[in-house]
Amino acid sequence: MKIIMLGAPGAGKGTQAKRIAEEFGIPHISTGDIFRANIKEKTELGMEAKSYMDKGQLVPDELTVKILLDRVAKDDCKNGYVLDGYPRTIPQAEVLYDAVTKLDDKIDYAINVDVPDENIIDRMGGRRACVKCGATYHIKYNPPKKEDTCDICQSNLIIRDDDKPETVKNRLSVYHEQTQPLIEYYSKQGILKEVDGTQDIDVVFEDIKKILK
Ligand code: ADP
Ligand code: ADP
Ligand code: ZN
Repeated sequence: MKIIMLGAPGAGKGTQAKRIAEEFGIPHISTGDIFRANIKEKTELGMEAKSYMDKGQLVPDELTVKILLDRVAKDDCKNGYVLDGYPRTIPQAEVLYDAVTKLDDKIDYAINVDVPDENIIDRMGGRRACVKCGATYHIKYNPPKKEDTCDICQSNLIIRDDDKPETVKNRLSVYHEQTQPLIEYYSKQGILKEVDGTQDIDVVFEDIKKILK
């Protein structure tokens, strides 16, 4: 099964994608996580991506597309995957479409996790991320068992550089300009599914499971 998660930054794409990946035994692929891993390793790609991410802008398509195509070509993607944070532009969606079509395959679902802008600021302000394993928490809605400590690997939790309020505002306007048109794009392809992302994390996941089963 091949699934795309759509939604504003902070809508809960990553949170739900991790659960889908676990439930269906397919890899969770987050381009944001791949960029952050590269930043941590101080690779050339990481340094270039960081200059855009810190401003709340998108990393250019040329870079992003290459990363994604390399990743989905790996063996573990044979039975499908859940994409989180890709595509974010129409040209990215077209590259993905061409790649899967070439394999006589298709994307099964594009799930839009719908959350209004008012809720987003609150979501991102309380987000905490594990420096080591990438798990995400929320100080109010999904707190770790022990403050500032990852439940899974016990590493430190941090506030992402791009979750500062000024950057969040930029990311939201970039979302509306460049990413939101994908909702119509996938609706036209007949694979768009909508879920109400303002509900509790468990309820959102139940709704997604109903779509996928
Ligand atoms: P969020 O979880 O808030 O949606 P991500 O972790 O997916 O954020 O992405 C963080 C940043 O990484 C984005 O703001 C953008 O700069 C960059 N990025 C991630 N995925 C893409 C993509 N598909 N195209 C361009 N930039 C991307
Ligand atoms: P995205 O990948 O779309 O940027 P995340 O999955 O990282 O979003 O979620 C953003 C923040 O909101 C995190 O702190 C997460 O714990 C929290 N969150 C996710 N889903 C919900 C929800 N349904 N209700 C409340 N908080 C949520
Ligand atoms: Zn961790």
